Amino acid sequence: MVEIIENKDITSFTTFGIPVKARYFAEYSSERELLALSRKEEFMNNEVLHIGGGSNLLFLEDFGGLVLHSAIKGIKEYRKDDETVYAIAGAGEKWTDFVDWCLERNLAGVENLAHIPGEAGPSALENVGAYGVVAKDVIHAVACF
Ligand SMILES: Cc1cc2nc3c(=O)[nH]c(=O)nc-3n(C[C@H](O)[C@H](O)[C@H](O)COP(=O)(O)OP(=O)(O)OC[C@H]3O[C@@H](n4cnc5c(N)ncnc54)[C@H](O)[C@@H]3O)c2cc1C
Repeated sequence: MVEIIENKDITSFTTFGIPVKARYFAEYSSERELLALSRKEEFMNNEVLHIGGGSNLLFLEDFGGLVLHSAIKGIKEYRKDDETVYAIAGAGEKWTDFVDWCLERNLAGVENLAHIPGEAGPSALENVGAYGVVAKDVIHAVACF
């Protein structure tokens, strides 16, 4: 069962590295664990902030609510047609690892987005872009909770 940690130092979850704590912190590895978390008192009675690689977040003070982090991993091909290969990536995968995974298989489309910091989940939310390519043009669907 997923654990909620109190007074967790989350500095390592940010790229600025400025010392910061969360009153509550939980990391889940499956949708089932996230569902279980959503029924906890700490989830229902506090502000909830989902964090990824922390490259687009700057904490000015400790966070008084619940910080969530996805550890949902895995990258796999799940469908293919004449022109397109569809791959699925866990929200907790590093975005650039996903780009590398595509390049290793000669799958074109995301190469301009190499080395953008952060995780796969936030890349969709932030609609990352570089050199004329934007995530919305290459992301087919996002599973949301
Ligand atoms: C040096 C540097 C270079 C960068 N270059 C680029 C660039 O070229 N192009 C570009 O577009 N961006 C760039 N960025 C911005 C950054 O890479 C993106 O915004 C990235 O998507 C942030 O990912 P993260 O995992 O660090 O998200 P975080 O900073 O942790 O979170 C960003 C947002 O996503 C939310 N979030 C986090 N995880 C989830 C989740 N699983 N589900 C839903 N919401 C979630 C957070 O609440 C927050 O609102 C750069 C940043 C840095 C520091």
